[in-house]
Amino acid sequence: MKRVFDHIDFTIVGHLQSILESEGIRTEIRNEGASRAAGELPISEVYPELWVLDNADEARAKAIIRDYRQAAAETPVSPDWTCPVCKEHVEGVFSECWNCGTPAPTRPDL
Ligand SMILES: [Zn+2]
Repeated sequence: MKRVFDHIDFTIVGHLQSILESEGIRTEIRNEGASRAAGELPISEVYPELWVLDNADEARAKAIIRDYRQAAAETPVSPDWTCPVCKEHVEGVFSECWNCGTPAPTRPDL
């Protein structure tokens, strides 16, 4: 077993797991619940971790993760937006208003 990745955001760890599994690499996630308390600082420095079961897959898994992270870094960050319903300021990473649940308006540049 080799740990190949960890991140505070379980969504990212889970996404990378499905990418590795689709490449035929068997994986396991540890500390799955570590980031579940949304909006709260984690009690400890324990992040969800992605492990490969077979040590022989470590290098390939890391290469896949690196490529994925690189591609993600090159994707432009979504701009913040203003909710058309309640006029709340919403960060670009959210696809709906955190205050009233209205979906983000369609962005002409996407
Ligand atoms: Zn709103």
